[in-house]
Amino acid sequence: MATKSTSNSKIITCKGAVVWGKGEGVKVEEIQVDPPKSSEVRVKMLFASLCHTDLLCCNGHPLPLFPRIPGHEGVGIVESVGEGVTEVKEGDTVMPTYIGECGECANCSSSVTNSNLCLTHPLPFDGLMPDGTSRLSKSTTTTTTAAAAAAGDPDQKQMIRIYHHFTCSTWCEYIVIDVHYVVKLDPRIPLPHASFLSCGYSTGFGATFKQVVIFKGSTVAVFGLGAVGLGVVEGARMQGAGRIIGVDINERKREKGLVFGITDFINPSTTTTDSDSSGSKSEPDDHEQHNGNNNNNNHNKASISEMVKELTGGMGVDYCFECTGVPSLVNQALLSTKLGIGTAVAIGSGNEKSGEIDLVPLLCGRTLKGSIFGGIKVKSDLPFILHKCINKELKLDELLTHQISLDEINKAFHLMKQPDCVKEIDNMDELLTHEVQLEDISSVFEVLKKPDC
Ligand SMILES: [Zn+2]
Ligand SMILES: [Zn+2]
Repeated sequence: MATKSTSNSKIITCKGAVVWGKGEGVKVEEIQVDPPKSSEVRVKMLFASLCHTDLLCCNGHPLPLFPRIPGHEGVGIVESVGEGVTEVKEGDTVMPTYIGECGECANCSSSVTNSNLCLTHPLPFDGLMPDGTSRLSKSTTTTTTAAAAAAGDPDQKQMIRIYHHFTCSTWCEYIVIDVHYVVKLDPRIPLPHASFLSCGYSTGFGATFKQVVIFKGSTVAVFGLGAVGLGVVEGARMQGAGRIIGVDINERKREKGLVFGITDFINPSTTTTDSDSSGSKSEPDDHEQHNGNNNNNNHNKASISEMVKELTGGMGVDYCFECTGVPSLVNQALLSTKLGIGTAVAIGSGNEKSGEIDLVPLLCGRTLKGSIFGGIKVKSDLPFILHKCINKELKLDELLTHQISLDEINKAFHLMKQPDCVKEIDNMDELLTHEVQLEDISSVFEVLKKPDC
């Protein structure tokens, strides 16, 4: 299907991956993309990648807004700009982001809180542009009745509005986005790699810089070795962490984790560890059932936090990053950290909304914090990561396992719906299995295939 050439005053007809209802997957359709309004930019997408949150979106999380075009990772080229836009121009290479940074609101300007959640340009959940409307739609043609058709009555045109995903909807050949959610890229950056930096990988990598202070020799545990978790591993390794324990139920993640820098691997489903734990001991207050014996029976009874403590002489780690989005694992992350000084950071998102937190371990000097996008400010902090990408300091090749066209997106979704990858994410096993498939099937859609577009 050819994409029409356009000026900024015209509607573009192009392809987009539309989800029509909860759990229905995506359908690549011909859609219409409006021209940008005053503060907006229309972007021709070049690459878009899959993030776990996209699947949540397809399943109606956090709000069941349909029809919708998912996707919040990607890179593209500015096709046209609204009359009020000065930050970027036609032809610039850009990355859509789902949070903004005004630099002036209470959160952006405070050096104390240092929050990346801009109050002026917040993360939107309503599937609409900041003015409360959509730039995406689909025209349909319907014939009212057989009699009308027989009488030669013209078909009726209808326009169905389509919701955006956050600020963007990157699984589309063209998107319209408010310029406050756009980051201009150095054209030297490898674009498929840059796509990963829109969300998942940067979330993990950035969290190691923005959410904690990692010293040389710090101990770190990472729950879930998808793109987010591997970003954590790489960030921790770069800052000199002495011990990085990767936790994932998929054995194949052991090898991947080692490439990024884990020193130890825990597979909770097989309850084995890499390290000799014969000298380890558990924290006595919350690990009564684990007496330090390194036999399988005890391992089968052990929780993840106990396994982490077993690897760290009973102490736990300085920092534990929860990247799976399962609330019960947030508590395990907290319990995995050191008495008095440990910090657990929740950076994964999932369908479950709440879980229990053990109060006494929290009261005993541990810190629990959470963040969106790893706490990275998109204008102030993201260039730091992009620069490392240009300098090839990040192992992003390891994340790019498949590259497919937008038309093949259904193949990706079929793979995600294999029996061992459920739509309802109820426990760690299911979630981690899903994350594995997300990474394995494809990490980047090449949205634009035609050189003449
Ligand atoms: Zn702000
Ligand atoms: Zn994401």
